[in-house]
Amino acid sequence: MEAIHRFSFRLFPISLAERCRKPSLLAPNFRKLIHRTISSSPNIPKFIPAPKTYGSSSTSIAKAGWFLGLGEQKKMSLPSIVKAGDPVLHEPAREVDPKEIGSEKIQKIIDDMVLTMRKAPGVGLAAPQIGIPLRIIVLEDTKEYISYAPKEEIKAQDRRPFDLLVIINPKLKSKSNKTALFFEGCLSVDGFRAVVERYLDVEIAGFDRNGNPIKVDASGWQARILQHECDHLDGTLYVDKMVPRTFRTAENLTLPLAEGCPKLGVR
Ligand SMILES: [Zn+2]
Repeated sequence: MEAIHRFSFRLFPISLAERCRKPSLLAPNFRKLIHRTISSSPNIPKFIPAPKTYGSSSTSIAKAGWFLGLGEQKKMSLPSIVKAGDPVLHEPAREVDPKEIGSEKIQKIIDDMVLTMRKAPGVGLAAPQIGIPLRIIVLEDTKEYISYAPKEEIKAQDRRPFDLLVIINPKLKSKSNKTALFFEGCLSVDGFRAVVERYLDVEIAGFDRNGNPIKVDASGWQARILQHECDHLDGTLYVDKMVPRTFRTAENLTLPLAEGCPKLGVR
């Protein structure tokens, strides 16, 4: 799941952010310059998509299946993120054999997922998003990511930092009927947002990366991330369950909802 909503603009001074919202006011060369400046700064996360400079397309990995084998995968650098339309994102993933969790292959997949999520940056990633149809999810939310969101939004979403979680073969269930409606985005559908209704409180059970059984209770934004990532394992993208007529570009995120759409917040 995408880390944030308005990161790209929040890194600029207001006046520049305003100019960026109006592409016609910005000469193409100037836009390129901003892109390079932001992308090349080592201490600032790249919230504007950087040009792909590594690895072969994960789409080709996905299309070929991941049967290329570990030997082939080892030669490649970090995978890029598979985008909507690739069948691997629209079909159920299969369970990991618990006996395989400690294998070099599964451990490498987990490492790749964590690095890919952080590089994006995102707050969650499912294995199908790097072209691997296995039931593995990773998620984390940091103080730094959260600091870029408006305070009132953080409060409304009940968003709190949490350490990296790796869950294999997750089984998720809601703990109450309470739900919330908020915009969310996805690294596989980048550049867009839509409102999705999610449970507020969930519990999830599965295995950690050492093969030990784990169970996590989550609420608020963490519960949303878990539901979003588990949906990926069933071949479901957020756009498959979004509230109709709320789909929009990230740039239009703050525009009002169309008349008749349900209000954001807890139900
Ligand atoms: Zn996603």
